[in-house]
Amino acid sequence: MGQIINGKEIALKVKEEIKTFVEQRKNNGLKIPKIASILVGNDGGSIYYMGSQEKVATSLGVGFLKVVLEENSSNEEVIKEIHKLNNDEDVQGIILQLPLPKHLDEKKIVKEIDIHKDIDCLTFESQGRLYMGEANFLPCTPNSVVTLLKSINIDMEGKEVVVLGRSNIVGKPVAQLLLNENATVTICHSRTKNLKEVCKKADILVVAIGRPKFITDEYVKEDAIVIDVGTSSFEGKITGDVDFDKVINKASLLTPVPGGVGALTTTLLIKNSCEALKDYED
Ligand code: NAP
Repeated sequence: MGQIINGKEIALKVKEEIKTFVEQRKNNGLKIPKIASILVGNDGGSIYYMGSQEKVATSLGVGFLKVVLEENSSNEEVIKEIHKLNNDEDVQGIILQLPLPKHLDEKKIVKEIDIHKDIDCLTFESQGRLYMGEANFLPCTPNSVVTLLKSINIDMEGKEVVVLGRSNIVGKPVAQLLLNENATVTICHSRTKNLKEVCKKADILVVAIGRPKFITDEYVKEDAIVIDVGTSSFEGKITGDVDFDKVINKASLLTPVPGGVGALTTTLLIKNSCEALKDYED
């Protein structure tokens, strides 16, 4: 039977580092990090994420400014708010809650975020820098995957890693971060042929497809490490892409959902705001 990778426990260690950083700055009369989070409209998921970001930030002593705009705001109104936050010297990190209401032009709006405050790595420039090895900030969910692996001393160099999913926010950047760790990375998607066979080659299988319990033991090599990024609502519960009960008997290590990748993501976002403050002062 495999072991569970405890994301909550790993997040606690990162939280302690952030707390110490903030306390030391406070004690020395220095500026503390502050995040601004923009919500346009009433998307349920976004309201939930904004609430949990605020809770974690506040508990660590990091400032959190909520900017809530009407559902029917125009592109110009949202951009005006972003420009205001770009110019606010007390704000080091800007989070734009996605998805935006359908009538808004997401690409046009996102690109207005100052890349020095783009702690969620959303802009084209931030993403380009990531692929050139020059990232200001690592995107939080992909970074959570790599941080979990590093925290339990997994050496990724030379490992066969299969990433299932090729989205711009998870699949592609996580593949890039794993490549940076010198893993041999294969990216799969909905058109991949012989998916089971490809997945079964993986020493480390990272799954981010949004299909609850899709990955059974038939996709997993004996003693592989399996990282489940999926968070779908299934039968009233947050459920991963991996069929936990089946895979735990085959994998050597497995992340649970909840309590795995997601448990660390918000903490890493807040850590990025501390990095942004350090960069600002340099
Ligand atoms: P997405 O944009 O919908 O992308 C899903 C990817 O999975 C696509 O590349 C798609 O292939 C591929 N795919 C879908 N069905 C497949 C199948 N049957 N076989 C093979 N590939 C398949 O999703 P996302 O934004 O990357 O999110 C993925 C999951 O991660 C979701 O459950 C999301 O809620 C979760 N998530 C979790 C966190 C966290 O912090 N824990 C953060 C972000 C997202 P094509 O490209 O060919 O369509």
